[in-house]
Amino acid sequence: MEDSRKWVDEVFLHNCVMNEVYPGRSRYALDAFLIYKGEGEWFDLLHHPISRERFAYGGAEMEPVGFSIRETCTGCGVCASVCPQQCITPGTPYQIAWTRRLQCGLCTEHCPADAIARLHA
Ligand code: SF4
Ligand code: SF4
Repeated sequence: MEDSRKWVDEVFLHNCVMNEVYPGRSRYALDAFLIYKGEGEWFDLLHHPISRERFAYGGAEMEPVGFSIRETCTGCGVCASVCPQQCITPGTPYQIAWTRRLQCGLCTEHCPADAIARLHA
């Protein structure tokens, strides 16, 4: 209890506006906690092209996400033509640029060779 209050005090020290929301001892209705390990991503849809980046901290491992093009790609170009972010480029096989992915799945829905696989369950 006392340790939790110490950290609540620390939070209020660095976020002074909180004193107006929780005056006096009402601040102790809150619990302070530490997220020591995790993974996530930020995803910016407000700028063009969109961008996203994954991160992990505290020793957590980043799970692969999104889609990947397999060697069975025939190079037909259908995926690139349907991708709303133009993030698929020709190659053998075709390639998907990570940072602009919407992960909408349109490419895999339209691939006639079933060559685009989702990287996570
Ligand atoms: S639609 Fe499928 S087969 Fe065609 S280029 Fe894209 S990944 Fe390759
Ligand atoms: S999932 Fe959507 S945004 Fe990502 S490569 Fe496929 S079509 Fe493009």
